[in-house]
Amino acid sequence: MFDASRRFDVLVVGGGNAALCAAISAREAGASVILLESAPKAFRGGNSRHTRNLRTMHEAPTDILTGSYLEDEYWDDLLRVTGGRTDETLARMVIRETKRVVPWLAKQGVAFQPALTGTLSLSRTNAFFLGGGKALVNALYRTAERAGVEIHYHAEVHRIRIEDGMFTAAEATIGGFPEIVRARTLVAASGGFQANIGWLKEYWGEAAENFLIRGTPYAQGKVLRTLLDGGCAPVGDPTQCHAVAIDGRAPKFDGGLATRLDCIPFGIVVNREARRFYDEGEDVWPKRYAIWGRLVAQQPGQIAYAIVDRKAEELFLPSVYPPIRADSIGELAQKLELDAATLEATVRDFNAACRPGPFDPQALDGCRTEGLDPPKTHWARPLDTPRFTAFPLRPGITFTYLGVKVDETARIRMQEGKPAANLFAAGEIMSGSILGQGYLAGFGMAIGSVFGTIAGRSAARTARN
Ligand SMILES: Cc1cc2nc3c(=O)[nH]c(=O)nc-3n(C[C@H](O)[C@H](O)[C@H](O)COP(=O)(O)OP(=O)(O)OC[C@H]3O[C@@H](n4cnc5c(N)ncnc54)[C@H](O)[C@@H]3O)c2cc1C
Repeated sequence: MFDASRRFDVLVVGGGNAALCAAISAREAGASVILLESAPKAFRGGNSRHTRNLRTMHEAPTDILTGSYLEDEYWDDLLRVTGGRTDETLARMVIRETKRVVPWLAKQGVAFQPALTGTLSLSRTNAFFLGGGKALVNALYRTAERAGVEIHYHAEVHRIRIEDGMFTAAEATIGGFPEIVRARTLVAASGGFQANIGWLKEYWGEAAENFLIRGTPYAQGKVLRTLLDGGCAPVGDPTQCHAVAIDGRAPKFDGGLATRLDCIPFGIVVNREARRFYDEGEDVWPKRYAIWGRLVAQQPGQIAYAIVDRKAEELFLPSVYPPIRADSIGELAQKLELDAATLEATVRDFNAACRPGPFDPQALDGCRTEGLDPPKTHWARPLDTPRFTAFPLRPGITFTYLGVKVDETARIRMQEGKPAANLFAAGEIMSGSILGQGYLAGFGMAIGSVFGTIAGRSAARTARN
């Protein structure tokens, strides 16, 4: 039961990794802590429960990581994916702190997988959670409960009262009842606004109706909106989101990793008009998978179809949904409800433009088309071997970039540039302070864990003073 007469040292809003790291750290520092999670218990954990790993620097092999991954290489990787749109001070701090935060998470009960050897290159740079993000979230909730954090589910914060940079109270609905929650400090860790289709429509128009959201439906951005309305400084491009192409049959929310499709480089992709619209073989897939969500979003009806032939079937992970198959391109077109003559012409033109060469699915092989617009610059092989297989594609939104600006103590900046008195933020809601564009696998959990622990400590210290 929520007791409205109680005043806590720290109110943590959110129930994912960043919120839990903040709540546990604040308790470690001796603060009384209340955590409000808008989801019911069964769906707690936000997008964090879909994750697999955290990118971490380390100087030597460990039981969970191979080789070494030093600060400068990590920084270079970040610089490349963000095209320089990052804050070097904050980014380097996150990078260095990952070394501390991985053992800290382990101490809180998070189990990591022994380092995988073989072809998975991420085993050097990323620590994998044993049992995935769901197990991580469950472990952190157990620890938070044991430490005495007061946790409420079905507890949605919709307004944060801020007077001249000072948080005074939060208005929430807890278990269906309107409540005022009072605390000396606040940590906002409520993720992005990617599940708020109405907000996405402000930038994408009606197309946003056809977007699928890869993670939690609770990422409504209400806390972000009230913080910005209350004078907190925005950061990050509001029009940008991380979007990948996923199986078009995925559920509207929470489809997670299993709905991703990796077959695009090995075939062609056509839109609803049965025409190709982009170079499917522009670069290796890890460098290109994140542009395909946006590309599909720009097509009529926000739908596209990836098509491969028998030769390519074993080159990618199968979808969780059944492949759509046919023995001829015409028959496949019928099954996809595309114009058969146009699809046959698209495939005929593509096949005629392919220049034979040594095909190598693991490298930029230069098997390319000639005289075709758009071209396919690698892995171009004629679609000539039945059976033909297709998967529908839709934009799958991972997260948005708009957030609140923080400093290295996780304290929120106000619009006039001064620091907020007692407002802190961690995780996706402030990651725009570091990620101006692009994304590096495992960096979301790195930001959330590092800034979560910092925000918890900063909030506890501020509450004491
Ligand atoms: C499918 C998928 C796979 C991913 N894999 C990885 C990976 O392997 N490694 C990696 O680093 N990153 C990964 N990411 C990104 C990663 O999920 C995020 O960077 C990270 O989880 C953000 O943590 P967070 O705590 O800030 O947000 P979240 O985990 O999303 O938590 C936000 C929480 O706030 C709650 N909330 C929202 N609004 C309110 C409100 N008004 N009141 C109260 N509570 C509210 C939500 O219910 C939720 O519990 C993945 C994302 C997806 C979608």
